[in-house]
Amino acid sequence: MEYEVVVGLEVHAQLATRTKMFCGCPVRFGERPNSLVCPICLGLPGVLPVVNESAYHMSLRTAVALGCELASFTKFDRKNYYYPDLPKNYQISQYDLPFAEGGSVPISTPGGEKSIRLVRVHMEEDAGKLVHTPLGSLVDLNRAGTPLMEIVSEPDLSSPEEARSYLEELKRMLEYLEVCDCNMEEGSLRCDANLSVRPVGQKELGVKTEIKNMNSFSGVEKALTYEAGRQIRTLVAGGVIEQATLLWHEDREETSVMRTKEHAHDYRYFPEPDLSPIVLDAKKVEQIRGELPELPRTRWQRFQADYDLSEYDAEVLIRDRALADYFEDLAGRVGQGKLAANWVTNQVSAVLNERKIPVAECPVSSDRLSELLLRVDSGDLSKGMAGKVFDSMLGSDASLDQLIEKLGGGQISDPDTLRPLVEEVFGEQAKIVEDIRGGKDKAKNALFGKVMGKTRGRGNPEVVRGLIEELLASGS
Ligand SMILES: [Zn+2]
Repeated sequence: MEYEVVVGLEVHAQLATRTKMFCGCPVRFGERPNSLVCPICLGLPGVLPVVNESAYHMSLRTAVALGCELASFTKFDRKNYYYPDLPKNYQISQYDLPFAEGGSVPISTPGGEKSIRLVRVHMEEDAGKLVHTPLGSLVDLNRAGTPLMEIVSEPDLSSPEEARSYLEELKRMLEYLEVCDCNMEEGSLRCDANLSVRPVGQKELGVKTEIKNMNSFSGVEKALTYEAGRQIRTLVAGGVIEQATLLWHEDREETSVMRTKEHAHDYRYFPEPDLSPIVLDAKKVEQIRGELPELPRTRWQRFQADYDLSEYDAEVLIRDRALADYFEDLAGRVGQGKLAANWVTNQVSAVLNERKIPVAECPVSSDRLSELLLRVDSGDLSKGMAGKVFDSMLGSDASLDQLIEKLGGGQISDPDTLRPLVEEVFGEQAKIVEDIRGGKDKAKNALFGKVMGKTRGRGNPEVVRGLIEELLASGS
């Protein structure tokens, strides 16, 4: 029997606000434990939370971009559970009236574009963090009260690869919208997955397991591949799948059972009495809609159409909004999309990766690089020489002409300058010339090499080859 995989993802995205969801404490990663706290996020009795307007604005911006239906009336609820990193013993979240429902995320699959439907998006606060040490577990509440957005998909994903594509697309969207820094290592973007399998053709869903603790894209793909394999093997062997929450262990590349699934009513949700509900402001939504940036997928399609780029090159460029901006500026200045794309995806990206810096810190601005590429495009500089000039630009602010001069000048394309050199080589290499005339066509490369040697690599290859042919034909 053949099985198919069904996956739904719950993504928690930390909103990129300056302060927490319900108090004025700063949101910062890596600070001294328990230094970013106040009576509200410490959960002391008698305090009153206030909704962070910026967090609500960012949530709306996301929901509008995802095409969600916005609730005209939304409220917060208390989700009750007891855990050492949750001082109030409840988390403020949204239960039956989330601020947004529906919407979708488009992804690319081998079979074409696919739309992954969303169930809902809601706002909530993060819990603190337990730090496990050899002496025992410690509590750090710096993260407690950090604004989160939970984005829940329908079980529309049919493979671990699709799950990864979905996450990558969603991450890019959040980055373009500037609502989340999406740093998975620091936990700004976290993902839980629900996975089940069923015989191909069966409508009813199989029993699902929930997988937690995946903190990289490759981790998600590996964990889902592992779990799908485990479920299929169990069913094939005549076993049953038990509904459970599993932990993914990146080091061992396997899952283990964390707990058997609790149900929603275990949390005893009830409306948060300290926060007033929010009534949607239609004007605000229109304003947000008007301010939306071009989204990554639209940009990806536009790059292919406007600059004649391959799907792959366009994808590499749009992955990072700032890199895409850099490319567009460069392409505009040079007037050659493909040439600009080649340089950004190769030389520029190599520098950024090597130095682990964002494009904003690239030592060569798009303006400066455009000067160089214009010389390449006009034939004044060979590709090899342009590479050398680019390398020297990384460590020097000198003008392009100064750098070219220092490196021994630009490409020589003038036939009148090159002709005497070619004639010289013909004189010196009579044997090779004779061989060529005798039919040894391959020997032309040797001749070409000698001429290029005389120009110290600066001769325009096309012009040099042309001159060699010319002289061979003239019989001199
Ligand atoms: Zn606080």
